[in-house]
Amino acid sequence: MGAAIRLFGDKRQYVRKTISQPDVAAELSRFTTSVATARYQLLKLLRSQKELPASAHGILEVHLLMIEQSPLIKDVEGTIEDERVNAEWALSTVTGRYIERQNAVQDENLRERAGDIDDVSERILNALGEGSELPLELLDGSVIFASTIRPSTLVELSRRRPIAIVTEHGGWTSHAFIMAREMRIPAVTGIKDVLHQVDDGAETAVDGYNGQVIIRPSGETVKRVSGIGSSVVNPEARTIVTSSVIRTLDRREIIIRANADSEQSVECLHSSGALGVGLLRSEYLFAHANGTIAPEEEQISAYEKIIAAAAPNGVRIRTFDLNAEHLSPKTGDQESNPSLGLRAIRLSLAYETHFRSQIRAILRSAHNGNVEILLPMVCGVDEIQRSRELIDREKAALRRDGLPCGDPGIGAMIEVPSAVVMIDEILQNVDFVCLGTNDLVQYLLAVDRDNESVAEFYQTLHPAVTRSIRIVLAAAERENIPAAICGEMAGSPFYAPLLIGYGAREFSMSVDSIPRIRTVIEGISFDEARSLAREIDTAANAKEAENLIRVCYNHKWPHLFPDDFLDLAAEKSFQLSSKN
Ligand code: PEP
Ligand code: MG
Repeated sequence: MGAAIRLFGDKRQYVRKTISQPDVAAELSRFTTSVATARYQLLKLLRSQKELPASAHGILEVHLLMIEQSPLIKDVEGTIEDERVNAEWALSTVTGRYIERQNAVQDENLRERAGDIDDVSERILNALGEGSELPLELLDGSVIFASTIRPSTLVELSRRRPIAIVTEHGGWTSHAFIMAREMRIPAVTGIKDVLHQVDDGAETAVDGYNGQVIIRPSGETVKRVSGIGSSVVNPEARTIVTSSVIRTLDRREIIIRANADSEQSVECLHSSGALGVGLLRSEYLFAHANGTIAPEEEQISAYEKIIAAAAPNGVRIRTFDLNAEHLSPKTGDQESNPSLGLRAIRLSLAYETHFRSQIRAILRSAHNGNVEILLPMVCGVDEIQRSRELIDREKAALRRDGLPCGDPGIGAMIEVPSAVVMIDEILQNVDFVCLGTNDLVQYLLAVDRDNESVAEFYQTLHPAVTRSIRIVLAAAERENIPAAICGEMAGSPFYAPLLIGYGAREFSMSVDSIPRIRTVIEGISFDEARSLAREIDTAANAKEAENLIRVCYNHKWPHLFPDDFLDLAAEKSFQLSSKN
């Protein structure tokens, strides 16, 4: 329960802020500077892109005219002065009005101008953000409403964390929601037009378990919602676990490590019983850096803190899984399809200087710690071999310079279909593999993991997914190479028996998920899990697989999977949001 606060913007997110009269002049000047920056960028683009097609040239000229001659800028300044609001808010309200007006006209050509207004506004917004912190000042107990929420916004908010998050867009495995779960923030996504349905300050109840958002709830609803947390939250979730060895009933040993993305996320590492960090999403350690890659020394200090928190167990540091957009202020790259673009290991190999500084930072922080390097989005052996060469070269250079460095093992994320097909060759080139099921589902089924409108096609139990998992685990077993499951699937009790049945011996998940997974693992036998997996192999589709799992759980392990858990799982059969 909390007070609503709307968060606007896409790339750069902001709230409405009232400013005091004496600060109005400074806000106006901030706005004027950002308009000047936007104008300068447009002029530069026009001058530098001589071979630009005439149409593109025309568009840039229209944008320039909007800045120089249309009443838009004056209107925004007027709004800042009259309403005493921050520039971001004034700009978005004024452009919103302009776009609405434009959309209402009959002429199709003129209607298209709405997109240009949006473009210009986004350019000025970006300029407003340069070099400043996000203008996010949250009161305690705020419920954030946003069209979408960026992981970097959540990082910014982690000091003053919201009490809940409600968004229009996002999926179960979107990074922002993975982080929200880690931060124990209830979140509901996929609510259409949510920003227009609530006012700042409105009392709001969010029931993350059932995916409900109630604005101005009645007294009765308040009572019901307030009780949910205590009845649904697993009481084991906060127990301190001392032994990290987990065994099935028939004594098969299972290793559980933690997924981490910040120094805070490893605070409870030891008490959770995790055997170190199985996936460190290193890019989020530096998410605030906005377009810049943290320098080597800053990286070393962050890695060393996490390595120390995990000691004597190890840390698998995944190299930056960024896309070109994250570096855009430097490179100017804009991709229309970033998931298929210059992302993860591709980006690292394309920007070798950045990659080498990360490698050096990892090697140096590994000198007295147990560290491994994990390469994201590997498609075959090429990226591994090229990375290995760079790692070896940096190792030799560090030694030459007399700097202490470690000798970390190298692993690959298996998260794109080609990596599954090439698994035998990949295993010849690595010390371990990690199955990234979030991306594996996305790429195998060609379904955007961040897009709630295709959530029904994001089918974790699709036969193509389960078969791929079986193939990878079997190949790794044959070669005696460790294989860990580290996508969100690993942290869901619903999938744990199936994964164990397919041969999984290692899992990596958010610290919060460990107690429930542990209970499930300790309550089943490998033998029974194996026969469940064999049965699932006969399913023709995800729905059938899910039903088979439910029947099996009801029959064999009703004490591990209470009715309401399975009912919820059935209801949201494809979105799977309630299963985790
Ligand atoms: C995955 O893809 O499953 C994974 C663990 O990596 P990320 O969620 O960071 O893409
Ligand atoms: Mg991934």
